[in-house]
Amino acid sequence: MQITRDCKVEPIRQSVQFSNKLLDKNALRVVDIIYKAGFEVYLVGGCVRDLLLDLKPKDFDVVTNASPEQVHKLFKRSRMIGRRFRLVHVMFGARDFIEVATFRSGKVQTAKNGVIMRDNCYGKLEEDAVRRDFNINALYYDVHKQEVIDYVGGLKDIEVSEINMIGEAKARFKEDPVRMIRAIRFSEKLNAELSCEIQGCIIKQASLLKNISSARLYEECIKLFQNEYSLQVYEQLENYGLLKYLFKQTHKNAFIKKACINTSQRIKQNKPVTPAFLFAVFLWQAQNNRFVHIKKKQHSFHLAMMQACDEVIIQQIKQVSLPKYLTTRIKDIWMMQPKLEKMYPKKIEFLLNHPRFRMGYDFLVLRSKSINPELKEEVDFWTKAQENALCNHE
Ligand code: ATP
Ligand code: MG
Repeated sequence: MQITRDCKVEPIRQSVQFSNKLLDKNALRVVDIIYKAGFEVYLVGGCVRDLLLDLKPKDFDVVTNASPEQVHKLFKRSRMIGRRFRLVHVMFGARDFIEVATFRSGKVQTAKNGVIMRDNCYGKLEEDAVRRDFNINALYYDVHKQEVIDYVGGLKDIEVSEINMIGEAKARFKEDPVRMIRAIRFSEKLNAELSCEIQGCIIKQASLLKNISSARLYEECIKLFQNEYSLQVYEQLENYGLLKYLFKQTHKNAFIKKACINTSQRIKQNKPVTPAFLFAVFLWQAQNNRFVHIKKKQHSFHLAMMQACDEVIIQQIKQVSLPKYLTTRIKDIWMMQPKLEKMYPKKIEFLLNHPRFRMGYDFLVLRSKSINPELKEEVDFWTKAQENALCNHE
């Protein structure tokens, strides 16, 4: 099936001068090289939206009428990636790159169930605009003319803090159900209202998320919770019936609330955060429940704990695949809890030197401040043990 969406042919053009300090130097360099080679080129998407809202963009995306092959030829340090969507990454460091896409046509190939199969037909700027998800995400910035180009009403939506879908929400969510969790994330990040149409469609179509691969959901989950508004995102995912398609073993409790707030505070203070910690919190109750069940038959405490960890993680990665290094960390945090609770004198030094001690300790602290207030003595013990270890070092 082929879907073609209409777009307004005459866009709104608004002069805007973004401070050079806010614009990414590498993105500007990429734009400049493509422009000088004679192509049309713009900054697009989240970066334009965030710049208009005076927020610091997370990343800068570039879009052009040059084909991926033409872009690749312009940059020595670049590589072509993707199958469903072909893109070019212009590399500036091992993990530092600017993504360059070629305008896509409004034509997408969808399967019988409406899911996009292929989206590699190149098109014009106005066609590219209408295949993006929300109006606020379809704004283009012409760096040379210092002008924002708007085909879909994104500028107005930014002004009134509203999130509207480009086209019909029902069909656009069917094409790509991940847009439902993106809608929730943007609404919390930007403090913007979801349109009534979007709200209604998410509630009705939440189960479409089942069709998304666990690898893709992992990428999205990181974006959902590694931020200052993770608690609100969590609550909205639950309200809209989406959470069970990401974490079916998770049910809200005071520990999860505390950990989300804690994550926000750490990000605000520029402290490091790892997704392992939050995922360990989300799945802790499930691990405990499994442990109680297994322990009825398994006499070894250690083996029962290990088995409970494995079973809960196996269930989780069916929904959202977690890389091995994360599941190892999650298990380490969990396995450390009974050891921290026991406070065996012989184990103190070993635990203090454990590479995951700090995470295990932080986990214990948050448990004591939420679901396990009886652990206060244990927390005090480990706080003192760290102070003593520090004094002995000096
Ligand atoms: P942020 O980077 O802050 O998470 P973003 O809007 O830049 O937000 P990205 O995932 O970086 O999000 O995507 C860049 C742009 O690509 C979006 O602004 C949007 O125009 C388009 N886009 C991304 N994902 C989709 C999707 N699933 N469907 C349609 N368009 C999408
Ligand atoms: Mg982005």
